[in-house]
Amino acid sequence: MKISVIGTGYVGLVVGTCFAETGNDVICVDIDDAKVNMLRKGKTPIYEPGLEELLKKNIHEKRLSFTTDIAKAIKQTEVIFLSLPTPPAEDGSADLRHVLDVAKVIAKNMNGYKVIVTKSTVPVGTGDKIRDVIEKISDHSFNVVSNPEFLKEGAAVSDFMKPDRIVVGSNCQRAITIMQDLYAPFVRTGNPVIVMDEHSSELTKYAANAFLATKISFMNEIANLCDRVGADVDAVRKGIGSDPRIGTQFLFAGVGYGGSCFPKDVNALERTAHQHKYDFAILQAVEQVNQRQRKLFAKNIVSYFHNKLKGKVIAIWGLSFKPNTDDMREAPSVTIIQELLKQRAIVHVTDPVAIKEAKKHLGSTVKYFDDNYQTLKGADALVVVTEWNEFRRPDFDKMKSLMRGHVIFDGRNIYNPQVLREKGFEYIGIGRGVVYE
Ligand code: NAD
Repeated sequence: MKISVIGTGYVGLVVGTCFAETGNDVICVDIDDAKVNMLRKGKTPIYEPGLEELLKKNIHEKRLSFTTDIAKAIKQTEVIFLSLPTPPAEDGSADLRHVLDVAKVIAKNMNGYKVIVTKSTVPVGTGDKIRDVIEKISDHSFNVVSNPEFLKEGAAVSDFMKPDRIVVGSNCQRAITIMQDLYAPFVRTGNPVIVMDEHSSELTKYAANAFLATKISFMNEIANLCDRVGADVDAVRKGIGSDPRIGTQFLFAGVGYGGSCFPKDVNALERTAHQHKYDFAILQAVEQVNQRQRKLFAKNIVSYFHNKLKGKVIAIWGLSFKPNTDDMREAPSVTIIQELLKQRAIVHVTDPVAIKEAKKHLGSTVKYFDDNYQTLKGADALVVVTEWNEFRRPDFDKMKSLMRGHVIFDGRNIYNPQVLREKGFEYIGIGRGVVYE
């Protein structure tokens, strides 16, 4: 099949590359010249495990190409995926400018039947808006299909290649058949392609992200209560997770969620509810708890040092909003570091892949290190913010000899408190019975 993918960011690049990998001819389009040039050379502008190898292979085998010429890409392809940004507008709703602008360009360049597939996360009714835009300009026949993307950054390629489910929102059999055909190689093990109406499909994506965000904020509230009553959230997690109605995933307490999706999607869903005169009370709390969580963690550090952080060296392990990605969008690390800097702490930071991105957010306010142990030289405390695997089993004796103070704030509960205490560290996790505020 001949496919174009408009918007070659985290989602578009993975979508385009993986469709090429299953034998389709894929043209990826972006407005960013530098990005397109880099991609043509087989280099990924983002860090995503396994992506660069697949990219190189499919460029080499001539199934994958990159261009800034959107008109040509539209004319040459029958299926057009939109993986454009839908950033928050000022009121928190999803800004559809990019999607609707591109819809206009598609309409102007139609030269036959097209399936326009919305991969971007868009509010209910966006498909209707795209249809309106195109119908006003073009007489060619077309279908708009909602096909939300559920991949996780950090595991995007394997998520896309082996999806739990594919959701297709359309009531047109011609378009549904094309989508089923396109996705057939990805669901050979029997995972479902769930076909539904377009509005339900658009809402499904928001419902999924909002539910996952709710789980995280709920566990963070339980953790904060654990601190106050002298309980261990990790024990509570195991105790509830073994109930299959609750499940074991997404129950880890921490410094809260970040990234480009959960914060914006929770807000956008809340705005959709508001526009339909419905007060979605849980969602407001989910977001408030999430914002508060990173601040509470920073406050705990400040309180531990009796509000005297001036000149203290704080080492931060992990900057990206979660492991296996360099994505710094809405990363809790930024808020935590800013709170420490306000108290005039000296902040040393490291991250396996996100330092380049982090510099865009933190500039020269912190000192960057490639090696985790180097951050600890003369440090008064270690703060773990992102649970990268390489931080899980460090050499605690070496750490102790490098550090000036021996306290570890574990924002992701990756260490065993008892082991650390035996090694001579003071250990402060999330919801593990210690709070200094
Ligand atoms: P991104 O910002 O990484 O990428 C968007 C790309 O679109 C950029 O490369 C940008 O240059 C390009 N672009 C902007 N305007 C354009 C135009 N007019 N023509 C061509 N290209 C244009 O965004 P992303 O993270 O890939 O997200 C895209 C959409 O997918 C969003 O709606 C997001 O909510 C959704 N989504 C993201 C994820 C994720 O994990 N990042 C997962 C599922 C869904």
